Amino acid sequence: ISFKELGLAQPLLQATEALGYTHATPVQEKVIPAALSGGDWMVSSQTGSGKTAAFLLPLLNQLMAANPNGKPVPGRAEPQVLVLCPTRELAQQVSADAINLVKFSRGIRIATIMGGMPYGKQISQIKGANLVVATPGRLLDLSNSRAIRLDKVKCLIVDEADRMLDLGFQDDIEAIHELSSQRNQTLMFSATFAPRIMQLATSLMNNPGRIEL
Ligand code: AMP
Repeated sequence: ISFKELGLAQPLLQATEALGYTHATPVQEKVIPAALSGGDWMVSSQTGSGKTAAFLLPLLNQLMAANPNGKPVPGRAEPQVLVLCPTRELAQQVSADAINLVKFSRGIRIATIMGGMPYGKQISQIKGANLVVATPGRLLDLSNSRAIRLDKVKCLIVDEADRMLDLGFQDDIEAIHELSSQRNQTLMFSATFAPRIMQLATSLMNNPGRIEL
């Protein structure tokens, strides 16, 4: 199935074409329509399956629909989409993928927040970003110091939830969940649906649909 059949906006179709993606992968075929339809989703998927574009494309589509004229976003540190990643490497990879996917879109600004980067640089790049990709610890530091507000987040994505728990991020994720409690969509990705993952899913999501590949 082509990306066009999945109902994505033209600038995103142009980007997938420029990246040489001719067809959606199986996870993209299922997750893109599900995420576009709204609600919460729990997805099992492996690295290498195309899962990053599976969540980025519908979220970017929603951001573009909310700002159809592509107006520059105000310079506030109030993202509408927040992607949580367990490691810096993954956060950098997700941001790089997002930057490639918005090459033909206007009105989307992406920031990456992670430990090990200078605070000053991070604080200035958050301003005006509508999509933030972050590791949990540094994000909470910046939220606690009021450098970012999470109360405008509409959609939260937890990537590699199993690794999040392995790395001890459960409390941080729950804190971020509380800070963004007005959101209307949550997506969780995990290699497995082990009981501890399902427990986290229950605390973060409302009656999530399940997508298993
Ligand atoms: P991921 O599972 O998100 O780590 O993606 C694995 C690799 O697949 C990345 O290098 C993507 O650029 C690539 N990719 C994602 N979607 C597609 C697609 N529809 N067609 C071809 N390659 C893709």
